[in-house]
Amino acid sequence: FWTRVKELAQKNIKSGAYEYFIDPAQLLSIENDTANILVESSFHKDYWRKQSDLISTAGFEVFGKPISFSLYAKDELTAPELSKLSNDQNFKDETEISREVPEGLPLLTGLNGKYRFENFVQGPGNRWTLAAAVAVADKPGDTYNPLFIYGGAGLGKTHLMHAIGNEILTDNPTAKVKYVSSENFVNDYVNATRKNQMENFENTYRNLDLLLLDDVQFFSDKEGTKTEFFNTFNTLYEKGAQIVLTSDRIPQELNNLEERLVSRFSWGLTTDITAPDYETRMAILLIKSEASALNFPSETLSYIAGQIDSNVRELEGALNRVEFVANANHVTRVDIETASQALRSLKSQATQSLSNLTIKRIQDETARYYHLSISDLIGPKRPKEIAFPRQIAMYLVRELLGTSLPAIGNAFGGRDHTTVMYAYKQISDKMKTDIEVQKDIDSIKRKFL
Ligand code: ADP
Ligand code: MG
Repeated sequence: FWTRVKELAQKNIKSGAYEYFIDPAQLLSIENDTANILVESSFHKDYWRKQSDLISTAGFEVFGKPISFSLYAKDELTAPELSKLSNDQNFKDETEISREVPEGLPLLTGLNGKYRFENFVQGPGNRWTLAAAVAVADKPGDTYNPLFIYGGAGLGKTHLMHAIGNEILTDNPTAKVKYVSSENFVNDYVNATRKNQMENFENTYRNLDLLLLDDVQFFSDKEGTKTEFFNTFNTLYEKGAQIVLTSDRIPQELNNLEERLVSRFSWGLTTDITAPDYETRMAILLIKSEASALNFPSETLSYIAGQIDSNVRELEGALNRVEFVANANHVTRVDIETASQALRSLKSQATQSLSNLTIKRIQDETARYYHLSISDLIGPKRPKEIAFPRQIAMYLVRELLGTSLPAIGNAFGGRDHTTVMYAYKQISDKMKTDIEVQKDIDSIKRKFL
């Protein structure tokens, strides 16, 4: 299985990235159809997170079923955790018989059977999108076509796509279904042109009953690929095949794709997913914790739901982390103390890599990012072009250094702590919905790594 993962990666990923991200990774174990993979750092983890196609495809080829995966970063684990994980004797990869996989056949659906409507928790932030997805799965090609789902990271877009695919395959096992990330669609196309296998590519993509194309904001802006996608889209649409697309933004903001394509995205239904409210987060934690051997009292789940409030993927990550620490400490009934310890160490590790970070450095980088001078950033001026970066810088200081509000006020030209509080609140609110703000914060943060 692992050999196959690497083979697929070698074929699909540029060699530099392959050597840096893929090759050093280790397979720790495979349990319950989940591959536990150890990578070098949390940065590598971000890269691996996008490789679910790789793992599920290899799983499909070798085990005949999709395999999901959990990632562990060396720099996020303490030494004892690391040695415990690495010594784990669960390593069972016996099915590792090198099997020749026929090129291009059979159709790989790319679906992960784990993502279903049954385990998708409904809440105010996803209600309409879930309803639309269910309708599409019930009558593919007949209701909303295409269905375009947009929303921030980790809110369940990919989950819903797989759920549609799995549902349609359950109803009709011979349906031709394919889930593919936009990056892999592009890779497939590039490989096909390189190897003179365009016919093969078109046979695969243009004969589908259901195309699930994830994260179209990552679609390449190369002319050839875009034209191919445009033609694929038209062919499928005209024969009544269902198309589902996702993105982190509305179609009109997809600058990588041309107008004629983007306008087609709006022919069907465009629908959004927003962050889960507290009840939804609790329900998600309840479902996920039921699968655990440990006992999670509801006050502990409520504590976790209170700590992580914007992203379901992070919510799951937090629960996994708590479970991990509880196991390491041989705790079976997970109390709030254990949970807070686990989440604290998660935070402190994040700050460890930022141990040289100072308020000054955050101010410098933020000023540089927005092309301002330091004296503007911390001075008295208040036009929007300055006030906003100032709020961003205050937010970052609070977030990354945990500095007290009055101390932040001092560092920003002697401002009042209520001003800092207001700035922090403004930016945290924007972080939940405003992609531009998320991107700015991300870019500035990356300077500190
Ligand atoms: P996105 O594609 O929007 O970035 P994903 O679909 O990958 O997000 O979701 C991230 C994780 O959160 C997945 O493990 C998914 O199963 C889980 N998840 C998201 N929303 C829900 C929900 N409403 N109920 C249950 N699990 C959810
Ligand atoms: Mg996704």
